[in-house]
Parts: sequence; structure tokens; C-alpha cells
Amino acid sequence: MVHCARCGATIAQDDERYELSGQTVCEDCYLDRVAVPKVCDPWAVYSAKKTGEGQGGLTERQKKILGLLEENGPVPLETILEKLGMDENAFRADFAVLRHLELAKATKVGEQVCYTLFRSSSS
Ligand SMILES: [Zn+2]
Repeated sequence: MVHCARCGATIAQDDERYELSGQTVCEDCYLDRVAVPKVCDPWAVYSAKKTGEGQGGLTERQKKILGLLEENGPVPLETILEKLGMDENAFRADFAVLRHLELAKATKVGEQVCYTLFRSSSS
């Protein structure tokens, strides 16, 4: 039995097993890492957590991202950038905040990494 090196989840199947910096991780942790390669702005995450009761501390742009995900999710990166007219770095910084607040997450649709609400209303 294999366990995820990051969250400790049991990895039952080979296709849910990913290598990350020499460690074996589950799909969720892998997608997190792919979606947020590094913590772009720890201070933004901190202040969002501190001031954000629910979505109160989000910026207008972060709210737009959530709105887009709510209407269309899961959405690939290119679609988000195109619809909101933002660049990839800006999106990743915002996404890092939304992910830490457990409002949005990455998910896999086929072979493509997409972004969706953390708690999908359809499930
Ligand atoms: Zn994990």
C-alpha cells in the first residue's frame, strides 16, 4: 500500500500515483503543485486569510475568477485568461489565494488540468 508523501492519503491505483521531487504523491497534491508551482505571494495569502471571513477579503478580480468557475467550471487556464483578460502570473497569484482559502482548486478533465470551485455545486 502506497501513501501520499504530502497528505498521507492512501493511493490505491497506479494511475492516481504521481512523482513530485522524488516523492510519491496523490493526484490532489500533484494537481495542487502543478496549479500553484510556488507560493507566489505568501503575504497576499496571509492577509486574505486574516481579513477574509468567507469571501469578504477577496479582491474584485478574485471574485470574478470564482464567478467564472461557478458558471463554467471546470475551466482550463487559457479560457480563464482569455475571459478575464489577465496574464498567467496574475492568475496564479490569485489562484494561490483562492486555493489556500479552499474556494477554488485544480482538477483533471481527461489529460487537461482545469480549475473549478473547491466545493463543486454539481457534486
Ligand atoms: Zn496527497
